[in-house]
Amino acid sequence: MARVQLRNLEKVYGGSVKAVHGINLDIEDGEFMVFVGPSGCAKSTTLRMIAGLEDITGGEVIIGDQRVNDLPPGKRSIAMVFQNYALYPHMKVRGNLAFGLKIAGKSKPEIETAIADVARILEIEPLLDRLPKQLSGGQAQRVALGRALIKKPSVFLFDEPLSNLDAKLRASMRVRITELHRRLKGEGLSSTVIYVTHDQTEAMTMGDRICVMQAGRIMQVATPKELYNHPANLFVAGFIGSPEMNLLEGNLQGGHFVIGSQRLTLGDEVLSRLSTQPRDAVLGIRPQHLALDPSGLKARLTNAEFMGHEVYLHAELEGQKIIAVVGTAEFEQLGRTETIGLKPSAEHINIFDKADGSNVSLHRHRLAA
Ligand code: ADP
Ligand code: MG
Repeated sequence: MARVQLRNLEKVYGGSVKAVHGINLDIEDGEFMVFVGPSGCAKSTTLRMIAGLEDITGGEVIIGDQRVNDLPPGKRSIAMVFQNYALYPHMKVRGNLAFGLKIAGKSKPEIETAIADVARILEIEPLLDRLPKQLSGGQAQRVALGRALIKKPSVFLFDEPLSNLDAKLRASMRVRITELHRRLKGEGLSSTVIYVTHDQTEAMTMGDRICVMQAGRIMQVATPKELYNHPANLFVAGFIGSPEMNLLEGNLQGGHFVIGSQRLTLGDEVLSRLSTQPRDAVLGIRPQHLALDPSGLKARLTNAEFMGHEVYLHAELEGQKIIAVVGTAEFEQLGRTETIGLKPSAEHINIFDKADGSNVSLHRHRLAA
């Protein structure tokens, strides 16, 4: 079992800089958990405390059934892959893969079998006799992955492993890593993954669940779909999704959302989902959930970005910026107009309390449950 539990985990650097503020999190055996958040939010610090590379100031890290706070990294059954994959430059790929096993005192035949297995899985057989400097970025990263894999750890820890690769390679490595995870799981191997990234696309495409962090605190832990459809607060709403969710400030008044001189009738679909009705509120709607409709909110079109099968419309609504993603054909029917109508799809409206940023609109499926 390689469940990972964080209990009131805290980190204070240098006696005064509080980096992690008492985090609680359960990561299931075999789960692919992503830590995502802006630079400096303490993703690496948290991961390094799990790995044993950083002292724990307070709280506990439990791997399997064991409290590991006082265990050295080598005794935690973890393997870590970093952004700068740090292969030993003077050793061939084969030597890099063998290194950890040699230290662990494995026999030569055992090591050779393990290398052959890992090389096959990662398709690096032709590279075994090359030096790191003879590898491309993607190849080197696969070797780094192999070096982690060969240890057969219970938990894989990744810290921004793809950040040094170009966009195309990043996209293919993303798929490779999730496939590898699925495959290990399929073979009955325990393969819990904790994957740190600042890139919300990586988080959304790779994670079974995502832990969104800000300034050393957890803002929400949920599946990608849940985060996308129902962000718990304004921070998550703004962080997850591309282009970003529109967050329009206004007031809730008698079943309407009032923005400047315009009123949007919310209707039962939305009103029935509200747990409270704060006066100062923020209406969250994704650009994909706005339709061109003359009866919608009036906005002044400022720019249109042609993306192929869709167009990103940038507009201004009562002094606030708004983005809509519409089909190219729809856009072309607009003609030369400056004022457009934008209608939010009711079921996709999220309402936030402006005072504390919390989402006060419940999910429909939650209501049904
Ligand atoms: P992330 O990985 O999310 O970018 P980090 O975990 O690296 O964030 O850093 C979290 C916070 O802790 C930041 O404010 C950073 O400046 C601080 N920090 C990180 N490492 C140290 C250190 N060795 N000494 C002091 N402060 C640190
Ligand atoms: Mg980091």
